[in-house]
Amino acid sequence: MNETSLKKHLAKLNLGGLRYFETIGSTNDEALAWAATGANDLSLVIADEQTQGRGRLDRKWFTPKNSAIAMSLILRPTAPMRPHLSRTVGLAALSIADACLSLGLSPQIKWPNDILLNGKKVAGILVETVWSGHDVDSLVVGMGVNVEEASVPPADLLKFPATSLEEMLGTLPQREDFIFRTLEALIRWREKINNQAFIQAWEEKLAFRGEIVNINAEDEKPIHGIVDGLESDGSLRLKDESGKPVSIRFGDVSLRPSS
Ligand code: ADP
Repeated sequence: MNETSLKKHLAKLNLGGLRYFETIGSTNDEALAWAATGANDLSLVIADEQTQGRGRLDRKWFTPKNSAIAMSLILRPTAPMRPHLSRTVGLAALSIADACLSLGLSPQIKWPNDILLNGKKVAGILVETVWSGHDVDSLVVGMGVNVEEASVPPADLLKFPATSLEEMLGTLPQREDFIFRTLEALIRWREKINNQAFIQAWEEKLAFRGEIVNINAEDEKPIHGIVDGLESDGSLRLKDESGKPVSIRFGDVSLRPSS
């Protein structure tokens, strides 16, 4: 992957701009700074290697060189998007899931921000916001995808099992092609972000549906319940032991299967 091959592959998407780095601290940091200084809608930061890749709660996201996708897309909210900004993590999740589907894989979304193949994490999403006073100026949608087997971190560094596209496909997909498929899907899904069909599509791909999970939040008692579906804002709806619905807002919570 290099800047020339990326530009060629992504030409049809009419991106607002492209910045490519052989190595970078974090693509989200670069995109946040670019957004704050006036980047166009659909500007993209891509790096071959991240040395300070972040997950939520400042957890580390590993992006070793020559093996993974690390990219951050800047979105300037369109009018239909504005009332539904909390759905943005779902927008990214559905798009990566569609790219996986188009390769014949069966992705699931581990709410709120991970994509699973065969129950293992293949991609993660980190959405961050640039504010202008009380208004959202832009959103930075960070996406990390394990493409080659070499991108999968050693098991002792992980709390949840991980995999790669290569491992699941049995062949090595081209990174530029997967980036194109993901962004093409994201541009398409963004048009529908205000529809109920968007929530339905997201809900259909939820991992652990009908299963008991634990929701862990720092300093709080874990919440235990059956995954039931999504609320209109993208919150997770569980059913507790008595069948009562419980909504879990994004915050900094982690979902784990119970057992
Ligand atoms: P959670 O699984 O609790 O939702 P995050 O979504 O915040 O966690 O993702 C960060 C976590 O993902 C890290 O703590 C690490 O365990 C794991 N991780 C880091 N890099 C990768 C990677 N390339 N592939 C899969 N998992 C990773």
